[in-house]
Amino acid sequence: MGRRTVHQPVQRGRPARQRIRAGGEMKSWCFVMLLCAAAANAAADCAPDALGTSRVLTLKREYAAYGTVQHGPLPLEKGEVVLTFDDGPNPETIGGVLRTLASQCVKATFFMTGANLARHPELGRLVVQAGHTPALHSFAHPPLKSMAASEQLADLAHGMQSFTDVFGYAPAAYRFPFLEETPAILAQLKEHKVTVASIDVGIEDYSPNDMRSAALVGRLVDRLRQTGGGIVLMHDANGPTAEALPALLKAIHDNGYKVVHLRWE
Ligand SMILES: [Zn+2]
Repeated sequence: MGRRTVHQPVQRGRPARQRIRAGGEMKSWCFVMLLCAAAANAAADCAPDALGTSRVLTLKREYAAYGTVQHGPLPLEKGEVVLTFDDGPNPETIGGVLRTLASQCVKATFFMTGANLARHPELGRLVVQAGHTPALHSFAHPPLKSMAASEQLADLAHGMQSFTDVFGYAPAAYRFPFLEETPAILAQLKEHKVTVASIDVGIEDYSPNDMRSAALVGRLVDRLRQTGGGIVLMHDANGPTAEALPALLKAIHDNGYKVVHLRWE
């Protein structure tokens, strides 16, 4: 399949200390104390019954395509979900979204638009400082299929540049606006070794759908029951989604799903 995955367990609290004791060969107490302090801080940020991030899935920087709405699945176990957020960063919602994720010790992937990154570079960096994975969602979120190939490629180039200006490296993953894939952009992504990120589960968290929290949670639970897990698409830039996020995470927790954090090498 040409793709390589690395599964890393997430180290948290007590297990980290146990690993250090078991090793018995630590050369520096300073190092031990730093690790303990980091673990204590991480634990302090989480509620005792937090959802948590069960593991990290690190993907190679390459052209690949995931998400069963359009492509094959990510290498996930049944019951594992990957949380993805589109269309930000939005100054009105990002603070609350990051706080909610932090309170549950959950890491996600944010597909941000180049236009929003150019307007709010500090918010893009805040997402990364919080430990989440940044990815690209076009520059201006245009309807690509109605545009000439040259215009499509200009939007992609603009988006890649905005992303690189903010983070200092090129995006490893791209999600098409409206999931509308086009041959011109696919060819470009292939050339630049950028992974296409489609989805497995959508909760239709945009108008004119019912955006009340209970409706969003209901759709999430229904779809997850159908797929058994996978890549979940939410829109952090939408107020109702940001407001419903505690309830959405609670539903994931209560139904026994485990959160996997996607990263790229
Ligand atoms: Zn979008």
